[in-house]
Amino acid sequence: MGLERPLPETNGLADTFWKAAGEETLLIQKCRTCQHHQHYARPLCLRCESSDLEMVPASGTGVVASYTVIHRSPYTDITTPYVLALIRLEEGVTMLSHIVETDPSSITCDMRVAVKFAPLRDGVKLPVFVPASEV
Ligand SMILES: [Zn+2]
Repeated sequence: MGLERPLPETNGLADTFWKAAGEETLLIQKCRTCQHHQHYARPLCLRCESSDLEMVPASGTGVVASYTVIHRSPYTDITTPYVLALIRLEEGVTMLSHIVETDPSSITCDMRVAVKFAPLRDGVKLPVFVPASEV
């Protein structure tokens, strides 16, 4: 019997993000004072230090900023190889995630990707990314 990947912390500021992800909506934080987007959610805006923040739906599209291919997993519920990537969303925030449903050798930096939601367990869904269809 191996180890399953841990589920995300769903308390505090992360709670709204994970509840929305469970309903297949990607939320990021936006400052009402200066309109700056940030991810992950924090108590203060990174640009202007305002605490007047809200969670808003993200575009769900972006580009691969960087990535690596993992060939050994400590968790039994993650099939290898898998891709861990930094995704830069249209809103300018960077999100650590997986790229799925594609051959890892086909992935390149600046490749366009779109979000989808992978069910884990206990109703938790993980935002992951797939190559975006050509526009
Ligand atoms: Zn701000």
